[in-house]
Amino acid sequence: MTANKFCVKVYGCQMNVYDADRVRTVLCSRGWEEVSEDEADIVMITGCSVRAKAEQKVWSELGLYEPSWLKCQRPIIALTGCIAQRIGARALERFPYVRLVAGPRHIGLLPDAIEQVHSHPKSRISLLDDDPKEFHALDLDPDNVTIKRGNKYKAYVTIAHGCDNFCTYCIVPYVRGRFVSRKPDDVLDECRMLIDDGVKEITLLGQNVNSYGKDIGLNFSGLLRSVARLWGIRRVRFVTSLPQDFTSDIVDVMASEEAVCPSLNLPVQSGSTRVLRLMNRKYTREEYIEKVNMTRGKIPGLGLTTDLIVGFPGETDGDFDASMSLLREIRFDLVHSAAYSEREGTPAATMEGALPVSLRLERLNRLNELQDSITLSINRELTGQVVEVLADDVAPKGEGMLQGRTPSDKVVIFPASKKILGKFVNVKITEAEAWCLHGELV
Ligand code: SF4
Repeated sequence: MTANKFCVKVYGCQMNVYDADRVRTVLCSRGWEEVSEDEADIVMITGCSVRAKAEQKVWSELGLYEPSWLKCQRPIIALTGCIAQRIGARALERFPYVRLVAGPRHIGLLPDAIEQVHSHPKSRISLLDDDPKEFHALDLDPDNVTIKRGNKYKAYVTIAHGCDNFCTYCIVPYVRGRFVSRKPDDVLDECRMLIDDGVKEITLLGQNVNSYGKDIGLNFSGLLRSVARLWGIRRVRFVTSLPQDFTSDIVDVMASEEAVCPSLNLPVQSGSTRVLRLMNRKYTREEYIEKVNMTRGKIPGLGLTTDLIVGFPGETDGDFDASMSLLREIRFDLVHSAAYSEREGTPAATMEGALPVSLRLERLNRLNELQDSITLSINRELTGQVVEVLADDVAPKGEGMLQGRTPSDKVVIFPASKKILGKFVNVKITEAEAWCLHGELV
């Protein structure tokens, strides 16, 4: 008997990658075969809806299956992830081959639904209930399955789903629902299973990891400490943090637990307190800077990155200058910047004072230029130093080159044999670029 064949395409954040890996794991454990797109009976497309551009990409991707469907009635498309929560109903109506749509809160129902649309040619399934408190988890038995993942030595572990913060520009609380913490034992069991399977670095994942436990009477610093003390773990990181919930007890765990890396992504979103208020971020510029100073004071060598939006409705020249001056003042290692893009259904989408797209992009370019020069000058300071790197993958370009990350989360590329993949090695930095460092094994 030939196996049922599937393929998964993921567009979007680590949460989508993590969810897709769990579905892959379950399908394979039920005898399905993961194949290339051309051979697949079912293609599962998991996408992100945080930015309008990502959504447009999925729409055009869906249209590309039409010729194949007209010719041979395959493949079946399952649209999943937060994109499905937003556009699933319309996609189901528009394309006959989209036969299953499921939002992220329904991941636990996905494997059965995929099997159902595969075995019943006329069936179409929509898993898009509107109750934001409902969540169907996809629990895996760590004693019986090995979770499929893209990298052998690094893995993400989701600790919470959804978000209750309702930043005015963000679609996440609407598509991913209310905040729900996973049970600590489930998180720890999954981490243990990954460590037993050779994982050296675990990143705890959530829309706002610092809120972990609020709904079940626990806190994030306690979970972080427990994970960092698991036998065999070498590195622990976490993303993403919300400044108002990033408290000194978390910094104390970062400072005292050897396995917790000195790296932090603390999204500021704007350098102007006025814009932060419009965004419903519950901290001021000054409070943000204070948290950064407190953290840097306790963790020397901290790698600090942030997320920042330019061109938010009503952002004046003065507000934008405040963001630019914040970059100069804090000197982040890296900034994930974006021009504001309207997300239908969010309060910001109907706010007065929308800026022309050309102005948003102009500001974005100016900000990126400034940050590139800051990143480059920080990276250049590392030239000549020896850093510890987890050799985690083959570098995308260049024969005989590997890549890995420093504890502070900088990418390093160096010549080495694949035999050292998965090992911690010392690398002397010989050259710095804004996006990566180059070095040689010591
Ligand atoms: S904290 Fe704000 S930006 Fe982050 S997911 Fe929640 S609503 Fe969105």
